[in-house]
Amino acid sequence: MIKKSLSIVVAALLSLGLSVSISSVKAAEFISIGTGGPTGVYFVVGNSVCRMVHKEAAEGRKEGRKHGLRCAAPSTGGSNYNIGQIKEGELQFGVAQSDWQYHAFNGSSKWEGNQFDDLRAVFSVHPEPFQLIAGKDSGINSWSDLAGKVVNVGNPGSGQRGTMEVLMNAHGTSMDDFKQATELTSSEQVNALCDGKVDAIGYTVGVPNGAIGQAIDGCGAHFVNLDSDVEAALVNDNPFYAFASIPAGQFYKSQKADATTFGVMATFVSSASVSDDVVYEVVRAVFENLDDFKKLHPAFANLNPADMITNGLSAPLHAGAVKYYKEMGWM
Ligand code: GLU
Repeated sequence: MIKKSLSIVVAALLSLGLSVSISSVKAAEFISIGTGGPTGVYFVVGNSVCRMVHKEAAEGRKEGRKHGLRCAAPSTGGSNYNIGQIKEGELQFGVAQSDWQYHAFNGSSKWEGNQFDDLRAVFSVHPEPFQLIAGKDSGINSWSDLAGKVVNVGNPGSGQRGTMEVLMNAHGTSMDDFKQATELTSSEQVNALCDGKVDAIGYTVGVPNGAIGQAIDGCGAHFVNLDSDVEAALVNDNPFYAFASIPAGQFYKSQKADATTFGVMATFVSSASVSDDVVYEVVRAVFENLDDFKKLHPAFANLNPADMITNGLSAPLHAGAVKYYKEMGWM
C-alpha cells in the first residue's frame, strides 16, 4: 500500500517535471553576456539585453507567457576574450567585433589553430569605427608620426588590440617602432592620454562614446585619419571592414575636422551549444522591445531588424534566432 502511494507520488512528480521541461525556458536558467570595459558601448549592449530579458519575464508573468531566464552582463576584456569564454562554455553570449567573429569562426588571424566552428551569430548592433586618438601636445597627425611615441595598443583580448595588430602589420610597424607600447584597458586609457602618460590610443567603439568625449572635449585630444592606401587595401580585401567617418562637431563639440577611418560592426554572438529555447527567448525579448532598446544609447538610434539580422554576420545564425526571424517573416 505504502509502495503504491509512493509510486503514485513519483508519477505525479514526474508528470509535473515533464510538463515543466516540454515548453521553452520555464525553469530558472542563468545566462551571462560578455561585454567590454565599463565605459564602452558593449557594456550598455549587454545590460540593455538583460533589461529586455527581465522585462519580458515580468510582463510574461501577467500574460501567462513566462520564461525563467536570469541575465547578467559583466564588464570583460572585450571581443576576443568574450568569444574565447563562449567557446569554453563560461559565457552563453557576448558582444564581439565583426572582424573577430569572422576570424574565430574561420580559424584565421588570431584564431588560427583555434577555430571555433560552433560560434553562432545572433544579430548585429551598432557600427564601430576604429579610432586612433592623439594627445594635445603629442605632435601626432598621421600613422607615421607614431614612431618613437608611447602608444596604447590595448589590453590583450580586446577587439581594438587585435585590430591594432592587424593595422600595424599592414603598415609594417612593429611594437619596437614605438618608444613604448602600453596595454591599458579601454577604461584606463583616456586618463593616461589626458595626463600625457601616453601619446596615442586606439579604440574600436560605437559613436558617441563618453570616454572619447572626455579625450576630445575634455583634454583637447584629436582623431588621426586612417585613410591611406594601407587602410584602402584592408577595406578592399576584407568583407568585415568598411570606411567610416565621424563628422566634425556632430558628436564631440571640440572636434574641428571630419575624421575618416575604417570600422567594423558590433555583433551579438553565442554558441551552437546554447539551447535554441534560450537564444529564442533572448532574441524575442530584444526585438519585441526594440523601440525601448534603441533609447538606451545614442549609438543604437538607427537599429532596424533588416540590418541587424544580416550586417556584419559571418558565422551562421543560431537556430533559436532563425526560429524567431522566420516567425516574424524576416527570413
Ligand atoms: N570593440 C571593443 C572590443 O571589442 C569594445 C568596445 C566597447 O566596449 O564598446 O573590445
